[in-house]
Amino acid sequence: MNNTTSASLFEKAKNYFPGGVNSPVRAFRSVGGTPLFIERGKGSRIWDADGNEFIDYCCSWGPLIHGHANEGVLDAVDKTMRKGTSFGAPTRLENELAELILSNNPYIQKLRFLSSGTEAVMSAIRLARGFTKRNKILKFEGCYHGHVDSLLVKAGSGLVTFGNSSSAGVPEAFVNETITVPLNNKSAVEEAFMNYRDQIACIIIEPVPANNGLLLQGKEFLSFLREICSKNKSLLIFDEVISGFRLGFCGAAGLYDIHPDIITYGKIIGGGFPVGAYGASKEIMSCVSPEGPVYQAGTLSGNPVAMSAGIAQLKPCLEKGFYEELAKKTNYLVDGIMNVNPFPLFNLFRLGSIFWIAFSTKQAIVNADQIDPASMSFFKILHHHLLEHGVYLGPSGYEVGFVSSAHSYEDLDKTIKAFEICLKKLV
Ligand SMILES: *Cc1c(COP(=O)(O)O)cnc(C)c1O
Repeated sequence: MNNTTSASLFEKAKNYFPGGVNSPVRAFRSVGGTPLFIERGKGSRIWDADGNEFIDYCCSWGPLIHGHANEGVLDAVDKTMRKGTSFGAPTRLENELAELILSNNPYIQKLRFLSSGTEAVMSAIRLARGFTKRNKILKFEGCYHGHVDSLLVKAGSGLVTFGNSSSAGVPEAFVNETITVPLNNKSAVEEAFMNYRDQIACIIIEPVPANNGLLLQGKEFLSFLREICSKNKSLLIFDEVISGFRLGFCGAAGLYDIHPDIITYGKIIGGGFPVGAYGASKEIMSCVSPEGPVYQAGTLSGNPVAMSAGIAQLKPCLEKGFYEELAKKTNYLVDGIMNVNPFPLFNLFRLGSIFWIAFSTKQAIVNADQIDPASMSFFKILHHHLLEHGVYLGPSGYEVGFVSSAHSYEDLDKTIKAFEICLKKLV
C-alpha cells in the first residue's frame, strides 16, 4: 500500500500539533506506522490522501450510524447553512431535535445541548453535585467519560492506549473527590458508600463500557447501581455518549430498562457535527441556569447546522426494524469472521452494532484487569494487515468497531474474507 502522501502530511502536522494530531489515538502510536490522512468518505467507504480505499468500521469513533456523507444529512446541513451558521440565539431546530428525542425517550424529560461528549459529562457531574449538594463522585476503572479533569482517573480510550492511569495536570484535590472501583464488583461499590456516607453525589458509568474493550456488564449489576443510588440519595448517571442511539433509540437505558437520573449523549446525536447533550427529569434539570443555580452555557450550543444534522440522522433511526437490521448485520459479520478464524486466541465480542476484537481470552471479559496488555501486539499486526486488505479499524486494540446502516452485505463479505486472510498471516 502506498501511503507516501499521508506520511508527508503527517511530517508537516508534527510541526503544528503535539504528536501531529488533534486527538491522541489518531496518531497510530499503539499500532505503529503513520496515520492515514483521510480525503473523503461515502457510505461505508473512506479514501485516504494516496487514493487507497477502505471499508470503514471506525465511523468517526461512532457518530456516523448511517455512514459517511449521508445524503439526508448533507441536504439538511446545506439547507440550514445557507440561512446562516450560528446566531447565539434560539432557533426552531433546537426545539425540533429536542422534541424528536424527548417524545421517543421515557427516561428523560428535559435536556440541554452542548458541543461535545466531554462537555455533556462535565455538566452532568456539576448538575449532580449541585442537586445533591455533595462533592464526591464514583466511577469505574476502564470507563472513559471524556477529558474531564476529575474523571481522568483509571479511564479507558486514549489513556489505556498510552498506558497512563491518569493525566498530568489534574490536581490531587480533584482526584481525591473521585472514588474509583472495578466494574462488576458490588462489594467495592457498597464499601465506597459505607466509607463515604452522605458524601457521594453520583455514580457515573458507561452502561455498556466501550472505551477499554467492550466490558459488557450484566443487567443485574446495573440494577444494583440503581438501587444503591436511590437508597443513598445519590444520582445515577448513564454516560451514553457511545451507547445512546446506538443500541436502540433509547440506548442502554432502554435496552436494560433502567431509569438513571441523568443521561449524557454525544457522538451519534450530532450527525457528524460537534454535539453533546445531557438530560434528566424536569425536577433535576430545573437546577440548571437560568432556572437554577448550576451554571452551564455555550456560544455554539444548539448550533443550527449541527441540530439539522442531528435531526436528519436520528429520524431514520426511528424507522421500524432499524436497530434489528443493524444488529443482524453485525451478527453476520462477527459470526462470519469467527467461522473462518484460524487463530486460537482471537475472539470477537458484540452488542447491537458494536464489536470488539480481543486476543486475550475466550472467556467473557467484564473487567479492565482481564485484558492482557501484551495481547495488543497481535492487534497491532492485524491492524496493518487489514489496512493492506482494505479494512479500516480504529488504530487501537482497546477501541471498539461500529457497523453502520451504510454497510452492505457485500461489504461484510469482503471484510470477512479480509479477516480470513489476515488472521491466517497472523498464525
Ligand atoms: C467519546 C466519549 C466521551 C467524550 O466525548 P467527546 O465528544 O470526545 O468529548 C465521553 N463518554 C463516552 C462514553 C465516550 O465514548
